[in-house]
Amino acid sequence: MVSTMKLVLTLLFSGIITNCRGNSTYNLMPRLLLVSFDGFRADYLKKYELPHLRNFIEEGVLVEHVKNVFITKTFPNHYSIVTGLYEENHGIVANSMFDADTQKIFSESKDKDPFWWNEATPIWVTNQLEENKTSAAAMWPGTDVAIHNTTPAYFMNYNPSVTFDERLGNITKWLNSSDPLVTFATLYWEEPDASGHKYGPEDKEKMSAVLKEVDNHIGCLVSKLKTLGLWEDLNVIITSDHGMTQCSKDKLIKLDPCIDRSNYSIVDTTPVAAILPKENQTDVFKKLEKCNPHMKVYLKDDIPGRFHYQHNGRIQPILLVADEGWTIMFDESFKLGDHGYDNALPSMHPFLAAHGPAFHKGYKHNTINIVDIYPMMCHILGLKPHPNNGTFSNTKCLLADQWCIKLPEAIGIVIGALLVLTTLTCLIIIMKNKLSVPRPFSRLQLQEEDDDDPLIG
Ligand SMILES: [Zn+2]
Repeated sequence: MVSTMKLVLTLLFSGIITNCRGNSTYNLMPRLLLVSFDGFRADYLKKYELPHLRNFIEEGVLVEHVKNVFITKTFPNHYSIVTGLYEENHGIVANSMFDADTQKIFSESKDKDPFWWNEATPIWVTNQLEENKTSAAAMWPGTDVAIHNTTPAYFMNYNPSVTFDERLGNITKWLNSSDPLVTFATLYWEEPDASGHKYGPEDKEKMSAVLKEVDNHIGCLVSKLKTLGLWEDLNVIITSDHGMTQCSKDKLIKLDPCIDRSNYSIVDTTPVAAILPKENQTDVFKKLEKCNPHMKVYLKDDIPGRFHYQHNGRIQPILLVADEGWTIMFDESFKLGDHGYDNALPSMHPFLAAHGPAFHKGYKHNTINIVDIYPMMCHILGLKPHPNNGTFSNTKCLLADQWCIKLPEAIGIVIGALLVLTTLTCLIIIMKNKLSVPRPFSRLQLQEEDDDDPLIG
């Protein structure tokens, strides 16, 4: 009976494995295009019509929520996607940074010094250093910097005024014609982040126009890849760095009534602000701590462990974290939408969609971590990943060449196994009864024995 069970289970499992590997029979050198639409909040997919993105997902996979890293800002999260590291480990801990040892300053417009990026190795560098493999980038934070003395073979200097069409034209040209073959490429676009800040994510009218344009870009990307004959063999990931939440002029945190500005420097601003005290740190902390009930104030050593945001010299001595939707005012600038808040908030999460020979078709997944994307990409490209904070097994269900039990299949296996077991047990009982030798006198003997017993003991 045990061997029969084994046979049944083997058949059930092999059925799933065959199913999982159904579309993995590609033998070309694996290639991947990684696309980011900045500030694409996960639930925009539910709230807005996005026909081109929906078509893309129908033929591929969707991860509804990607838990990003704290702080939920642009540069740190884009570097986590391509390194698989928390911010304290990859060194890009904010959009604006100050290094006390070297007195160097980093900002969105002053980001070219490799010093800031060299604490980690992004995937395009690893790919580039492999024999016969080439990387290309139509922008992505860090791709125009010589990290470990290496840039992608093809790249564009960051310039926000370059149109999406021009970026798309370059990246598809490089993917289509380069020798050696481009196997890893990135494409970055500033929307819907810029409009999310300007209008706020709850302005349905304005945001639906913005997202329609983003969706049209996705349509252009797919049709261009189809025209060039790249669509079937190229793996494409479309994701983002963070979401966006609605802010309000009724939710302002003012520091000036609590502490004089001469006591500290601001290294990074709202909604997660990095503060460098000028003299008495304890004094500055105490004044800020009591300043506003909608702002948490941490000394570096007390930053919660779940943020993985402590062990790096670029993290400043005091960190201010505003509650969702609140703005810490350092000047008069105020945005209707913002991000940077606690990475446990669903509004801060982006999504991930993927299509290509490495991925299943029509599969939906609940959640992964943003740091899980890196080991998955290394697996697809056949690269040895650098040590990272991601977990490859979290992405196994997305991949066509991986074995993964999905919940409905697991329930099917258990019910199937129980049915087989019950049927076999019943059959054995029936067979045993039929085969057993009749004992015609046994009942008579029992009655005789009973008669021998005394009636009163
Ligand atoms: Zn932004």
